[in-house]
Amino acid sequence: MKEALFYEKAANQSIKCRLCPHHCVIGEGKVGLCGVRENQGGKLYTLNYGKLSALQIDPIEKKPLYSFMPNTQTFSVGSYGCNLGCIFCQNFRIAKSVPETVAKEPEEIVLLAEKMGTPSISYTYNEPAMFYEFVYDTAKLAKQQGLKNVMVTNGYIEKEPLQTLMPYMDALNIDLKSFRNETYQKYCNGHLSPVMDTIRFACRHSHVEVTTLVVTEMNDDEEELVELFQWLAAVDENIPLHLSRYFPRYRYDKEPTEVSFMQKMKQEAERFLNHVFLGNV
Ligand code: SF4
Repeated sequence: MKEALFYEKAANQSIKCRLCPHHCVIGEGKVGLCGVRENQGGKLYTLNYGKLSALQIDPIEKKPLYSFMPNTQTFSVGSYGCNLGCIFCQNFRIAKSVPETVAKEPEEIVLLAEKMGTPSISYTYNEPAMFYEFVYDTAKLAKQQGLKNVMVTNGYIEKEPLQTLMPYMDALNIDLKSFRNETYQKYCNGHLSPVMDTIRFACRHSHVEVTTLVVTEMNDDEEELVELFQWLAAVDENIPLHLSRYFPRYRYDKEPTEVSFMQKMKQEAERFLNHVFLGNV
């Protein structure tokens, strides 16, 4: 186990984690909301350092990133754990439980990527902030070796860890799950504003694309989505937006999003943004 970054001691042997906006106060022997950071003897440890649930090569477009190193392959790694609790989670097997993993060091990941001839490494499948220390160590090393780093993230991370990571991140795909704080609270156990902050900050330092999963009876609301498009365009009208169609998963079983609605929303989004793509249709 590796000692975690970004925490401080609190009262009675407790620890306050500062990696994400939940700011969990974690008692001795307990884990935070994400389940992957544990207080042992007044120190915070990451439980999944180098424990990888998936290693594979994907087209970069699968992340999805359409305007970053197009037509290249990326060496993709994922671990497990998530700091949001979306009831429609599309990756719940690794987000919400401990899957089978293989142990790898950052050096091995960089060597593998070089051996495979992929020009980038992607931290993906589960939330990269959940294996932050491993992502940080690997990304730093990869950068030294001339490789690019990509993060596919829910954007639910505190500013300091994000700032620390950004010099090594070349591209991010950030989920914007809804443009309503109540929806983040009700369906994902999170809040909207930290995600907006992440998008604003990240796109000043790196290539950013945004994905919105359009979920039946959760955010398939024209008024809400138009507000989202307008806000994103005000940040930067050239940010590519991926509108992705939802399918029933995990604890949410509403019908898949209507394709006609997806097409209509793409047209609406194109009134404000220069690059809009549909996914899963
Ligand atoms: S990273 Fe995990 S332990 Fe830390 S604040 Fe977020 S949910 Fe809590």
